[in-house]
Amino acid sequence: MRKPKIVILGAGYGGIITSKKLEKLLKSGEADVTLINKHEYHYITTQLHKTGAGTAVDRQIAMEIPDLIDPDKTTFKKASVTGVDVQKQAVHLEGGESVDYDYLLIALGFDIETFGIPGIKEHAFAIRSFRSTKAIYNQIIRQLSLYKEDKDPSRLTFVVAGGGFTGVEMLGELAEGLPKLCKKYDVPFDEVKIVAVEAAASVIPFFPKESIQYTTEVLENFNIQLHMSTKILECTPEKVVLENDIEIPTRTLIWSCGVKGNPIVQDCGLPVIKNKLPVDSFLRVQDMKNIFSIGDCSLFMKDEKNALPPTAQVALQEADVCAKNIVATIRGGSLKAFEYHHKGSVASIGTFAAVGKVGSFRLSGLFGAFMKQVIEARYLLNLGGPSLIIKQHFGFSKEPV
Ligand code: FAD
Repeated sequence: MRKPKIVILGAGYGGIITSKKLEKLLKSGEADVTLINKHEYHYITTQLHKTGAGTAVDRQIAMEIPDLIDPDKTTFKKASVTGVDVQKQAVHLEGGESVDYDYLLIALGFDIETFGIPGIKEHAFAIRSFRSTKAIYNQIIRQLSLYKEDKDPSRLTFVVAGGGFTGVEMLGELAEGLPKLCKKYDVPFDEVKIVAVEAAASVIPFFPKESIQYTTEVLENFNIQLHMSTKILECTPEKVVLENDIEIPTRTLIWSCGVKGNPIVQDCGLPVIKNKLPVDSFLRVQDMKNIFSIGDCSLFMKDEKNALPPTAQVALQEADVCAKNIVATIRGGSLKAFEYHHKGSVASIGTFAAVGKVGSFRLSGLFGAFMKQVIEARYLLNLGGPSLIIKQHFGFSKEPV
């Protein structure tokens, strides 16, 4: 009998963890599993701000996918997905190749939402992928080097747009990383300005006021200029234009103002709502019995009005149920309805401070920073066991390109 073919698109949090769960759940020879990702490496998206500020080495953030999977159970294919033909049950790849499937998981993640603001797409630097945050780091180094030649102060002004969790993490990392980079490139750190711009009245506006106050104080102690209740109107290569006639001369705007589903999902011939694939309670794409979707490119309604947020925590919990449901579908068993359990969220503000909530406990300071490390280590443990944690921290793994 022909073995069913399971194809997983995207090796981010959702995709790679589903493939690891399938390795455990499927019997030997029960199905062929192919994992397709556009890069050879998986990256820790929740730590990308560190790549941007140069405060982590590459191997701590990105790791080779073939080292993470069992090659006897999962076939890895490095390729960019361009679309899906639902009628022919085939995935189209860049270069014209296609891959057939019987069961498909679409876990292609997110893209940056620019809200149509002029110049953002062209000139801002996004915290989107390992590559895009490497571009932030290279931009910082370039500006430090050019400052030595022309002494243009705009080169030393770094603006972060968005005061949500990701923006705050980026600000904390810049505050910690820039002094070291300035020393290395012989540029006076006193001349550096780090600026935060947020449209809401405060950073992390969705958090209790004690957490907002704590975060604001930490950022101010880092000498970060805060422009709250201020919208960005335009970005050019030399400046950022804000409301109230404020212009900030800068070469570096780091954009952290929201995400949307990967636009590729629009080319999959499937129903799409706001760039995302609506899924049923079993994580199957609406009206499909053999196509699943999880993570940031999917839309799971937790009640009539509210969808689950695009977080790693959601993608990881979905991966667990999705793997079980793919196997149950192949075996003709009953599927499990997905239920999300929010365990909390913690944002780092550099290495020694963090803010957030775990269970009913509000966290801040050094203990919060410790908890953030524990959360990240738990993910690595899940992904590759204790040996991966050792490799990541003590440097025995290969550096990805
Ligand atoms: P992703 O992890 O984005 O994976 C998608 C994968 O698909 C990637 O490997 C990508 O290369 C691949 N891909 C994309 N397009 C194609 C294509 N055309 N062809 C082939 N492959 C493709 N969430 C939390 O819960 N807690 C946090 O503390 C937290 N912190 C964050 C900090 C930062 C800086 C950022 C940016 C995000 C943070 N998030 C956090 C959100 C979290 O990272 C995302 O929700 C999570 O990555 C979503 O997982 P995913 O599997 O859906 O997508």
